[in-house]
Amino acid sequence: MTDLTELTIAEALKSLKNKEFSATELTNAYIQKMENTREYNAYVLETPEVALEQARLSDEHYKNGTNRALEGIPLGIKDLFCTKGIRSTACSHILDGFVPQYESTVTQHLLNAGASFLGKLNMDEFAMGGSNETSYYGPVVNPWSSSEPLVAGGSSGGSAAAVAAHLCAGATGTDTGGSIRQPAAFCGITGIKPTYGRCSRWGIMAFASSLDQAGPMAKDVRDCAIMLRAMAGYDAKDSTSVDMKVPDFEQVLGQDIKGLKIGIPSEYRPDGLNKEISGLWDKSAQMLQSRGAEIVHINLPHTPYALPVYYIIAPAEASSNLARYDGIRYGLRVKGEKLDDLYINTRTEGFGTEVKRRIMIGTYVLSAGYFDAYYVKAQKVRRLIKQDFEKAFEKCDVILTPTSPVSAFKIGDESMQENPINMYLNDVFTVSVNLAGLPALSLPVGLDSKGLPLGMQLIGKAFDEETIFKTAYALEKDAAFKRK
Ligand code: GLN
Repeated sequence: MTDLTELTIAEALKSLKNKEFSATELTNAYIQKMENTREYNAYVLETPEVALEQARLSDEHYKNGTNRALEGIPLGIKDLFCTKGIRSTACSHILDGFVPQYESTVTQHLLNAGASFLGKLNMDEFAMGGSNETSYYGPVVNPWSSSEPLVAGGSSGGSAAAVAAHLCAGATGTDTGGSIRQPAAFCGITGIKPTYGRCSRWGIMAFASSLDQAGPMAKDVRDCAIMLRAMAGYDAKDSTSVDMKVPDFEQVLGQDIKGLKIGIPSEYRPDGLNKEISGLWDKSAQMLQSRGAEIVHINLPHTPYALPVYYIIAPAEASSNLARYDGIRYGLRVKGEKLDDLYINTRTEGFGTEVKRRIMIGTYVLSAGYFDAYYVKAQKVRRLIKQDFEKAFEKCDVILTPTSPVSAFKIGDESMQENPINMYLNDVFTVSVNLAGLPALSLPVGLDSKGLPLGMQLIGKAFDEETIFKTAYALEKDAAFKRK
């Protein structure tokens, strides 16, 4: 018999409907694989009993013919999502033992669609990082590693590794500056950050509220389309969620892309861009062109400012959001003689180095003397970055770029440990999208000479995930990337 865990969500749904196997059998296949594959450190909490109970209910639904969109599909959930009755820590020591009394809207939507939850996935602490090395629970190992352990990317490293190693059928991720797309690229899977406002942020621990978005990470484009439809939708509990109909994203897959205008931004090809990546970028453009799409050259002139703007705004919002972890309300409490000592001791012990660095940078740029010079200035430049995209989209329908300037690097890489800015530079192709609130998908298109996956990014107009999906589907077909 074939390994059930290697089926895509679409394939599994079809087989479940045809009663080729039950949801319980599918879930057990994943549980067994999880037990035998702990070396990637993808899960920080396994919940087999929860998944099996949900699978039992799904089997009833199939029996009664009341099966829903994701009936019986076992998923992994990034530890940033609050899951009712299930420990949720954002992979931070400060949330030790925190068990939410509520379910995030996105995970509730997935449950309402009949999905089951195999466990909570590893991630960078509070989603701050690009390699999953800031997790309190240790780094995730990329399943594509051979001689030495490589990073899975971050912050949704556990989600990407779990999907690549078939430890779940699909996973949730969140993306503030690239955290769905970059780990997806590093692990050879597909992930989409939807338009800001498409998915509710309610119940997702906040990092930078004006940038955070949840999205699916899965084996292929179709699975992302299926998952996103279930995850998205208006939520009165998130004032930034948008009241718009959620399209059936799967319906556009396979549609003609003839005449579609694909924008190639010249600013994304700096001198010294990795030759293998730029080569694959050209090849991807040619593949779309041979299907009748038109390549247009566009400019995003404020691109050089995207990283500095992001690394001012994101820490500013983070420093404010993380003020709530005071040792009183959630998780860890380290006692002190006076109340202030309790706050100081808890936060000193509870937060890791990268989180503390961001809180300090954020507090600095928001402080009275520097607010105008840094934060207000960054907000102004953010507007210009957004306008760049608006102008570019007058000339094209979707933008094609690499997802990351590098492939997966080794765990503990000295240059990035010595200077965190070297890590931040890896976000150069992803952060602008969050600053502009746009949707963007990463899909694997090939391997580099080290045999590691490389991803391409498709950026769309606001609330036009459909054009992204249909373009990605065409590219996926032609690139014929072989999954792990
Ligand atoms: N790597 C980026 C950062 O460290 C993005 C993180 C994210 O999208 N959550 O902030």
